[in-house]
Amino acid sequence: MNDGSSTQAVHAGEARPKPYGALATPILQTSTYTFRDTAEIVAFMQAKAAGDGPVRDEYGRYSNPTQAVAEAKLAALEGAEGALLFASGMAAITTTMATLLSAGDHLVLIRDCYHRTREFALTFLQRWGIETTLLPAAEAAALPGLVRPETRLVFCELPTNPYLRVVDLARVADVARGCGALTVVDSTFATPLNLRPLALGADLVIHSATKYLGGHNDLLAGVVAGPRRLLDRLEKARGVMGGISNPHDAYLLIRGLKTLALRVARQNENGLAVARFLAGHPAVRRVHYPGLPGHPDHDVACRQMAGSGGVVSFELDGDLEAAGRFVDRLRLPYIGPTLGGVESIVEQPSRLFALDPAESRAAGLADSLARYALGIEDAADLIADLEQALAGVG
Ligand code: PLP
Repeated sequence: MNDGSSTQAVHAGEARPKPYGALATPILQTSTYTFRDTAEIVAFMQAKAAGDGPVRDEYGRYSNPTQAVAEAKLAALEGAEGALLFASGMAAITTTMATLLSAGDHLVLIRDCYHRTREFALTFLQRWGIETTLLPAAEAAALPGLVRPETRLVFCELPTNPYLRVVDLARVADVARGCGALTVVDSTFATPLNLRPLALGADLVIHSATKYLGGHNDLLAGVVAGPRRLLDRLEKARGVMGGISNPHDAYLLIRGLKTLALRVARQNENGLAVARFLAGHPAVRRVHYPGLPGHPDHDVACRQMAGSGGVVSFELDGDLEAAGRFVDRLRLPYIGPTLGGVESIVEQPSRLFALDPAESRAAGLADSLARYALGIEDAADLIADLEQALAGVG
């Protein structure tokens, strides 16, 4: 990838020189910003009333200078007018939906999204009089028949979890625009290196920055990037709902972002190498990876994405217990419910979704499915580890 993203990831959003001549961005650890005197408060309130953009920092629930650097860097990476940082991916998603939707509105949600996103739509939004239609990613072509005059938002995740489906975003955005709805993309799995949703017609792009953007499994954050006219509304809502990030996590995010391009390039390579290996292994029934020609969305992924990402899902030729034994035999990855960090991490989605396998099956999770989120280790070591763990499947 030689499109300027690596340079942006290192330098965008950072002042030169920084305070005290520091090379690293300082962590401004304060909850509040004080005023010299009443005259300064009056001038501040006048500037705010005139709407002359961000005036100065006032209180930590509204803004923070360390966070502003992370926001500017993320906006540059997404090719957006601006970006807003949140306390988590879910804070970004819930604040966005709650801001853009009102009673009587209709939401189309790609069904195979992060389960807490679905839960928010089907519980909170429903209670607030907002109806949701769940559309399986595999049936995204049916969108034109599902939108209505009251459809205000089409929300999709790209690629989806755990089957890595890739909807045709330009087409989705076209249909949404045609009925006056906004398109919002949770691009957590793709990262700004592999997909630029705004360039394909999305109105807003969201990430759980906890994953690839932070990249080191040591912070929780979320981000929304897009045009100022929408961000202004979200910024006000963030100040009311309180889901803002904190200065220390913003610092960790800035540091993590510096190596984003390197990490994602390696994770794309590891994803493809592992997916190819698994596809040729007799103990593996099916591999779900958009970079493989057999994937149902391979063509869309090739057209739309610069890389297929670091998550590979696969079904073993065995049952629930056999898949559990396989996961336990792996020596390199940790077992856990996240992705996008430098360490490889694996999970059996069925086990983490519900205690009762029937419940997981009803949610579309195959018993023998494993989701492997590749880190930045050497592909040869990852494959050797998979080989020894697969030897005992069955
Ligand atoms: N979106 C996706 C695709 C996710 O996988 C997750 C978390 O796993 C989230 C959003 C929520 O992000 P967070 O855990 O930072 O709240």
